[in-house]
Amino acid sequence: MRREMSEEMKTIATALGDLVLPRFCVACGDRLHLDERHLCLECLADLSLTHFWQYGHNAMADRFNARLRSVIPDGVRVEYASAAALFFYNSESPYRRIPQALKYRGNVRAGRYFAAMLGRHLAASADFRGIEAVIPVPLHWTRRLTRGYNQSEVIARELARALGAELVTGKLWRNRRTRTQTRMGMTEKAGNVSGAFSVHGSLPYRHVLLVDDTFTTGATLVACSAAVLPALRPGARISVATLAFVSS
Ligand SMILES: [Zn+2]
Repeated sequence: MRREMSEEMKTIATALGDLVLPRFCVACGDRLHLDERHLCLECLADLSLTHFWQYGHNAMADRFNARLRSVIPDGVRVEYASAAALFFYNSESPYRRIPQALKYRGNVRAGRYFAAMLGRHLAASADFRGIEAVIPVPLHWTRRLTRGYNQSEVIARELARALGAELVTGKLWRNRRTRTQTRMGMTEKAGNVSGAFSVHGSLPYRHVLLVDDTFTTGATLVACSAAVLPALRPGARISVATLAFVSS
């Protein structure tokens, strides 16, 4: 009875909130109804989930592992990394506005909401079992200062919570301010981030999850992995996760 009351109170509070400050769908911009959160029901129904967490080998994992192999020195054996994103998107899709809202418009609540959704899928996946630490791709400190937060850390915090793992920040550093990669080609992107990261201190883990907001070529996550791998325990695994996966 008491719980029903509190749910009702919440609904009333949301309804009053909507009157004062209407909420809008992150993807299509339509006004949200009372029972909708961040996406309208239509956009939520059309959100193309990748389901990568159900498949050890998938387009993202293949792209990431191929690129990782190309930067790891010969003779160093690295286990095939698991990789998953919540949803597919391309540059014309309205869903591009989800990572954009988090990254450029300060919509941290939407970021948390979609990250928690991804977290539930990863927590139920055998490929992401035994993750001890979740490490967000760091921003250069000057960019972090101007933006006020690191969008990858917002996602990583939710994933760590869902996986019962430690959120590790302050160990992986971005050495220099890399240029925005949006309009770069694949080779240019790789050159832009190679050697951009370093680890300060040790990472005594057997399985870590590296987290970024969007996966395009995988160059950033590979550059982070190359820095993180030597600091991990021998034979340790790296897995990667992002909100969005650019399929074309
Ligand atoms: Zn919508």
